[in-house]
Amino acid sequence: MQLAVVGMGNMGRSFAALALERGHRVTVWNRSPGKCGELVARGAVEARSLEQCAAETDVVLVVLADDAALLEVCTGQNGLLASLGPSTVLANVSTVAPATIRELAQAGPDDRVLDAPVMGSPENVANGFARFLLGGPSSTITSHEVLWNELGSGYIHCGPVGSAATMKVIANLVLITGVTALAEAIATARAQGLPDQLLSEFFAGSPLVSAATSLRLGSVLDGAHPGWFSPALARKDVRLAVGLAEEAGVDVRIGPATDALLTTVVDSGAEWPDFSAVIEALS
Ligand code: NAP
Repeated sequence: MQLAVVGMGNMGRSFAALALERGHRVTVWNRSPGKCGELVARGAVEARSLEQCAAETDVVLVVLADDAALLEVCTGQNGLLASLGPSTVLANVSTVAPATIRELAQAGPDDRVLDAPVMGSPENVANGFARFLLGGPSSTITSHEVLWNELGSGYIHCGPVGSAATMKVIANLVLITGVTALAEAIATARAQGLPDQLLSEFFAGSPLVSAATSLRLGSVLDGAHPGWFSPALARKDVRLAVGLAEEAGVDVRIGPATDALLTTVVDSGAEWPDFSAVIEALS
């Protein structure tokens, strides 16, 4: 298959590398120069323009930071939608508001814009373990079935365009608030004199902590916060979830509090690579 991956951030680079490993022809693009080299060395072609990504490509995977980036790259002058080949499918993997992907689907050709966020870290993507959440017409999804199985561990068809974005944002609310609750528990336990060794032994493998939250236990405790999902991206997702709640008249409280904590971390300027740094807002 001829694929294009637009956005060479942590996730985009992993998708492009996996696609090459699976034997696809891959074109890559990034806004800032200097991020495509590693993929080019593995056999990808660096596109000179977005038009080159969109034309004569079976599927364009768009993996960008946020809603503004997605709209700019897809609907801006010389954007992807303007140059989409006659049967090219645009699959948005970025986590964005459902309204944004619906807007994109309306602006694009019938049935060829898919809502395709993914559950999993860049490492999960690289290992083929990430799972797609898909929103869009069944025919478009099933005719590209091989892609969801080769670039991930399958998919859940959530419904029409927008439903997968909703599911993704809700899932991330659970993940991010879960890690925040763990951070609060650890900060409080420490302040009360409990040693880290005890906290580590207690929480590791405890049914009180989800498997996804548990992945960040070490990083909450040791304060290094190495990783792959920045506080700014996590805050963006919490805000998307709170926005969905407000739109539907649900009076949520935990999301806004988590947003405030992540804002403290983002505003500190420390540039932690991972949102487990939410604990830094508590001391
Ligand atoms: P990232 O490493 O921060 O990369 C962001 C990418 O977006 C970069 O390629 C950046 O280009 C590009 N970008 C930002 N603003 C742009 C604009 N206005 N125009 C064009 N390009 C722009 O983020 P990531 O971790 O790869 O995440 C990408 C998406 O996947 C996000 O929506 C995120 O929420 C979602 N996601 C992330 C994870 C994770 O664990 N990291 C997991 C699942 C889903 P430059 O290099 O030019 O800045």
